[in-house]
This record gives sequence, structure tokens and C-alpha cells, in this order.
Amino acid sequence: MRGIGTSPGIALGKVFVYKEPEINVVKENIENIEKEINRLDLAIEEGTKQVDKLYEKTLHNVGKEEAEIFNAHKMILKDPEFIGSIKEKVKSEKVNVEWAIKTISDEYIQIFENMKDEYLKERALDLKDISTRLLRILLGIEATDLGSIEEESIILAYDLTPSDTAQIDKKLVLGFVTEIGGPTSHSAIMARTMEIPSVSGIKNVINIAKNGDFIIIDGKSGEILLNPSKEEIKYYSNKQKKYEEFKFQLKEMIGKESISKDGVKVEIAANIGTPKDMDKVLENDGEGVGLFRTEFLYMDRDTEPTEEEQFIAYKTVAEKLGEKPLVIRTLDIGGDKFLPYLDLPKEMNPFLGYRAIRLCLDRTEIFRTQLRAILRASHFGNIKIMFPMVSSIQEVRDAKKIIEEIKEELRSENIPFNEEIEIGIMVEIPAVAVHSDIFAKEVDFFSIGTNDLIQYTLAVDRGNQDIVHLYNQYHPAVLKLIKMTIENGHKEGIWVGMCGEAAGDEKLIPILLAMGLDEFSMSSSSILKARWIINNTSKSEVESMLDTILSLPTAEDVEKFIDENII
Ligand code: PEP
Ligand code: MG
Repeated sequence: MRGIGTSPGIALGKVFVYKEPEINVVKENIENIEKEINRLDLAIEEGTKQVDKLYEKTLHNVGKEEAEIFNAHKMILKDPEFIGSIKEKVKSEKVNVEWAIKTISDEYIQIFENMKDEYLKERALDLKDISTRLLRILLGIEATDLGSIEEESIILAYDLTPSDTAQIDKKLVLGFVTEIGGPTSHSAIMARTMEIPSVSGIKNVINIAKNGDFIIIDGKSGEILLNPSKEEIKYYSNKQKKYEEFKFQLKEMIGKESISKDGVKVEIAANIGTPKDMDKVLENDGEGVGLFRTEFLYMDRDTEPTEEEQFIAYKTVAEKLGEKPLVIRTLDIGGDKFLPYLDLPKEMNPFLGYRAIRLCLDRTEIFRTQLRAILRASHFGNIKIMFPMVSSIQEVRDAKKIIEEIKEELRSENIPFNEEIEIGIMVEIPAVAVHSDIFAKEVDFFSIGTNDLIQYTLAVDRGNQDIVHLYNQYHPAVLKLIKMTIENGHKEGIWVGMCGEAAGDEKLIPILLAMGLDEFSMSSSSILKARWIINNTSKSEVESMLDTILSLPTAEDVEKFIDENII
């Protein structure tokens, strides 16, 4: 079977199918009440053990705060009112305990869901989680918590959300295979961060494979082999060895400059989601962080992170980087990234909706908290601020005005910050690329977000499996917008970077270098390869081919031209 390779490398190992099992509860009349109550007590005991385990794992893999959610679950398992109501129902109506759990928890969930208070509303999810856990135990349905993986496995899932991956024990996961998503899906980005292979777009894989099957995945070609032959295992083990050797060679690029054969120096930086990702950045000799996706600090929790929590996160990263730059992107929520506690409206077109800078300029209390934290942290390193999803000059002006107000506030409180902090924008909406000559006068830098720029330019949903063949970074229209943005930035004397996945695309790197891109920001695992490519490319040579490339009719022609003439 073949899907899309979304994180390179080869993995061979046991299958772990991550599937939400269906739970069907039927009402039964029972005679032996004592026995039924006893079943419930045993299920609570087992549930508490499972939750304890998840707490420990999350504490170890992610952090205390994220682990707290499981403490809350434990409280529910002990809650006299909730558990008491279930027992009462069993006794008074002589019904099976599964039925009692389902009906009582549905009642509670509805009450919580209707509450105005965001925090309490969230509790409905915890109740759902707990009642599902109890029902699974009682009905003997195998739990599929990712946190329960205990041996080296390759995870097969429909999709993996940030809260799923938060539970993973990174030492035990050899790779991912998902049914949906492309190179920019969360699971793909996560796989590249963890430096494990991943393949997406394998339809129905969670029903075809079962736990314990053996699987080989090739994260470059997108191929997967279920229960392979001995010959296939031998062939791929060899390939895996060769790949590991090549990775080793790349390590030789550590400590070298990123400079083309004809002496043009660029910066190769990393994209991160949390301070923990810094280990990989430093390991791969990143020359800075070109994109800190701060929304991850807001996810998998019940409330917004406080100013202090954010300050510590930003300061930690800035200090680890020393003088190297750290571009902090302000909250980019909405679209496919959801925060339950923000009570965001349901939208017909979330990717074109209430998100990122639009939301921040509306809910300014959230924005101000974040900007205060960033400005305070700017005293401790080389921090720059970047706004996502900008579409108009007015947004830039409004956001900058808020920064000025916060600077004034900090001055009056005698809190130090970098007065000269650079402010830039993501160029990820075509209007901004087209109008980049004017935008360049208002900001200190551009960072081209190709993940979104491609989807908006080509009108192709970046996460839609059925049209993934239309999502193409080699499309000449996309390349023209990129070139235009770089040129317009340079005309105004500002630097231009790229933090979309295209910045780490082996075939595009020479083209971007030729266009004059100053900074390439990518997954840490791509940095050394990118440096190797830059160091083996002559900028002027590729520059002489740019006109030809941009006049080619199709994305396929562009890719073919690169294959035949550049790489
Ligand atoms: C982009 O759109 O290219 C980008 C880097 O942002 P994100 O992938 O977080 O939307
Ligand atoms: Mg984006």
C-alpha cells in the first residue's frame, strides 16, 4: 500500500492500532444488586489504576500541568455524588451497571455542557472520558490509550490530535501511519520533530491491520508493507541501515556555516511548538528558531496559559538560543486548531474565518497577555514578534499599536524589555504576497508561510485527502508569489524568511536560495540536510534558470525541470 511519506526514515515493527472502539450499551434488568454494585467497584478500581498510569506517563513525557487532567479524572472516580447516583439507579431500578453509568453520565454531561462557565463546560469532556473508560472496562473492550503502549510499536490511527500525541512515550513509538492528513498535519509535524518515520493517506488502514501485525513503513516513499515476507524484511532492514548511515554523514554538517558554493550565506533555523523541542534544535545545530508556534502552549489544557507561564516558556527558549534569533509567532488558533475553553463559534469555513490575528485583535485580553509575556522575555535573548494570518495593513497597524501600549505599560512598571524588538508578519495569504511592496514598509521582516499560502493560492484545503494531489509547492503561481515577496522585501531593506514546510523541501531549497531567501526555517530534523544542499549549490547557477522555471506551465513541469537540471 502506498500513501504519502510525511517524515523520512524506515521503521519495522509491531502494529498498534489506535481506534476508538464503539460502545453499545443495552438496558438489562438484573436481580442480584450486590453483584452489580461489586462489578462497578471493581471497574472503578481498574479505572483508577489506568488513570494513575496515564498521570505518571504524561508527567514523565510532557509535564505536570498536562498530567493534572488525569488527577481530575481520578477525582471524578471518587466523586460521591456521581458514583452515588449510579449506584442508586442500579438499586432503585434494578438495571445493569453499564446502563446506569450511561444514563447518569449523559445527564451530568448535559448539565455541564449547558453551563456558561468555560471551565465547568470543559468538565463534560472529562466525564465523557471517565464514563467511556468505565464502560470499556465493564464490557471488556480493549482500551486504546496511546499512553498505554508498553512495547516498541508503530501507531496506526485515523488521525492523531495534539492531545493524543501528548500521551505518547516517545521511546516506544517507532513510526506513525494515519488515514488522513498530509505533510502539514499535526501527526506529520510531530513525527518529524520526533525524528521518526510517518506515512499518511492510507485509507482504512486501522481496519485492515490489527494489533500485533508486523509492518514496515517507508516515510520517504510513503510505502507500507503489512506482514512482509522475509526477503522484504531483509531488503528494508538494509535500506534502514543505509539511511541511518546517511544521517550520520549529515552530522558532519554540524558546526558548519550555511553558505552556497559561490559564497552566499543564509540562515537555517528551526520550527518549534514547545520549549521541549529545543533539544532537537540544538542537536541539529539550528541557527535560530524561525517559528515558535505558540498555540501549543494553549492546547491540551483547561484554561489559557498565564502571562507568567508564557514568560517562562519564551525566556527558556530565548536563553537556550543565546544570541541566535527567536521568532515568536503570536497565537494562531482557529482553522484546524481548536481551544475548547475559548468558546469559539462554529463556522462554515474555519480556514477563512475567525482565527489567528483576527481573533487576537478582537479578544485583545488574550493578545495583551501574550504580548506582555513576549516583551518581558525579550530582555533575555534575541526575540522577534511575528503575526500570523495577516491580510490587511490595518491589522498590522492595530497590532503594532497594542505593542506600543504594552511597551509604555512596561516602562511605567520599570520592567525591562528590548525597545528595538523586530516585528514581522507571516506572508501566508496571497493578498499579502501581491501587496508585499506596501507591507514591507510597515514591518521589519517577512516569513513566508507556504503551508497556508499554497492552500489559499490554489484553493486547496491543506488537510483534505481527496485533493492532496492538487496541493503542490511547485505550482508556478506559488513560486511567483514567493519570488515577488522576497524581491519586495529586499527593496525595502527587510529580511525575508520562510517557515512553511516548503523551506525544508530538498528540491525547492536551491530555487529559494536563487530567489534570495535569507532565512529557511524548518523541522529540526531537516536542518543538516538543508545545509548540505545549500553548501553544494551555486546560487548564481540556479538564478540563471529562474526565468525558465517560472515560465513553465505546470507544477509537474517545474518538479521535472528541477529533477533533471538541479538536484
Ligand atoms: C504556514 O502556514 O506555512 C505556517 C508555517 O503556519 P502553520 O503551519 O502553523 O499554519
Ligand atoms: Mg499558517
